[in-house]
Amino acid sequence: MSCCGNKNQEKQYDAKFQSTCPVMGSPVDKKIAENKGLTREYKGEKYYFCCGGCPEKFEKNPKSYIEKNSISRDNGGCC
Ligand SMILES: [Zn+2]
Repeated sequence: MSCCGNKNQEKQYDAKFQSTCPVMGSPVDKKIAENKGLTREYKGEKYYFCCGGCPEKFEKNPKSYIEKNSISRDNGGCC
């Protein structure tokens, strides 16, 4: 309704379009990652990576990155 509200929404984290690189912990644009082939599936979950080195690292030891990621998310708390 308000004309100023739209830009705010764009800046918010949107899980539909954004993900987090499990290796670096950086935000990843899902479309860009898919275009670059920086995605991997592991146990039915799709993961998106920020750069070319990350999928390789992830494939060597996916578990450690997934677990690390969930821990750092807890530490991150709210915004
Ligand atoms: Zn990366």
